Amino acid sequence: MNQSINVAKFGGTSVANFEAIQNCLRVIADNEKTRVVVVSAAGGVTNLLVNLAHQANTQDVIFEHCETIKEKEYAILNRLSQPSIVKPKLDALLEELSSLALHEEINHNDALKDQLLSLGERMSSLLVAACLSEFGVKALNFDVRNVLKTDSTFGEAVPNLAQIKKQAELLLYPQLSGAVIVTQGFIGSDENGVTTTLGRGGSDFTAALLAEGLGAECCEIWTDVNGVYTTDPRITSAARPIAELSFEEAAEMATFGAKVLHPATMEPALRQNIRVFVGSSKDPKSGGTWLVKDCDDEPAFRAITRRKEQVMVTVKTPKMMYAQGFLEKVFAVIAKNKLSVDLVTTSEISVSFTLDNPANSVAEKLNYQALAELEDMCEVNVEHGFDLVTIVGNQMQSVKGLTGKVFAALDFVEVRMICFGANPHNMAFLVEDKQSSDVVRTLHDVLF
Ligand code: ADP
Ligand code: ASP
Ligand code: MG
Repeated sequence: MNQSINVAKFGGTSVANFEAIQNCLRVIADNEKTRVVVVSAAGGVTNLLVNLAHQANTQDVIFEHCETIKEKEYAILNRLSQPSIVKPKLDALLEELSSLALHEEINHNDALKDQLLSLGERMSSLLVAACLSEFGVKALNFDVRNVLKTDSTFGEAVPNLAQIKKQAELLLYPQLSGAVIVTQGFIGSDENGVTTTLGRGGSDFTAALLAEGLGAECCEIWTDVNGVYTTDPRITSAARPIAELSFEEAAEMATFGAKVLHPATMEPALRQNIRVFVGSSKDPKSGGTWLVKDCDDEPAFRAITRRKEQVMVTVKTPKMMYAQGFLEKVFAVIAKNKLSVDLVTTSEISVSFTLDNPANSVAEKLNYQALAELEDMCEVNVEHGFDLVTIVGNQMQSVKGLTGKVFAALDFVEVRMICFGANPHNMAFLVEDKQSSDVVRTLHDVLF
């Protein structure tokens, strides 16, 4: 274990333009332990790449999106003192981008989609490395695909931990003394060297995986908020930053929608007991949140989270009362398609459950397959337009009067499903998306 290395990750807003990047450079230069820097694509770029990969656009729209991306990258390039050093490399990446975007197979070939999605991070790491060099810190732009080995599940690739460790020791570690390594979040490569991606928001996960592979002491997640809050500060100004959180609490929050951290980030940190810090690259002195293995304070109510784009599926068979094994068949389809179900309710003739359904995600595709299989078996009703609001905490089931308090506060909403009691860490509600902000605000007022 190397005690002296930090891995620092900077998200999309932090590297969105030249001014924002200057804040990151100061954070990097301020801590000599920071030897590896992981960057996201400049803010907004991945959304455009996702659109190019998934939508059948007209040529005009394709050119327009490519042009918007080029303008963002050039706006950074042109602020460099010596743009000519990196311009040929940036132009080559932009060229790759437009040829993939125009590729006739792009909407149908998952490997090509990931290759296209990888360009945001590849361009931003090139530019941030150049900015860091001009700032006076020796920097090296490193292709993370040589280290971050994954399986071939395009769009949501699973990292190969043994390979990552081996490659990190072989290729990354020897470079650390000579320069600060600036590399890409979110992307990797499979055993054939084909580019993969880890899923939206995956750069946090990359940083934690590299920290694990290198035996780092700390993994810093620099973003646009100074820490993990009691709820998304964009929903209510009453949200407060949390000074210290356990890995389990943070993972629970991330799983239930706290976008500030990718849900898998805590796995490597927990395995290797690497401290994780979340702070604001714009305002690094304003403090942040430490994620640790054991946290002194584990309150009953920690946070309120919201996960958007949920669908509610109800499967029904009039024969269910007599058809033992129906539940088993339904869940076999869910398991086969590797779907995860958060909320389930059953009645004598029906089963309802929720599925995560973000647009253009791997989950959306699998949901589609699973629903088609269920339709062969029984009556299926799918309702869209829901959000899942979750109270995250500890030992919640032993809080006296909790349900009364919560339900009284929520009497203005139509709650479609509830989950409480399955574990002591959360209480979840499925509500209509247009009411979810009010639900979060109300619960936050009542519980904090
Ligand atoms: P980055 O691009 O740096 O990865 P993200 O947009 O992925 O940043 O995550 C940061 C955002 O997460 C914040 O701007 C905030 O709106 C949102 N967020 C959601 N829940 C929380 C929470 N509990 N605490 C802090 N931020 C949260
Ligand atoms: N750029 C990727 C995304 O927007 C990964 C990340 O930012 O973490 O999802
Ligand atoms: Mg993020």
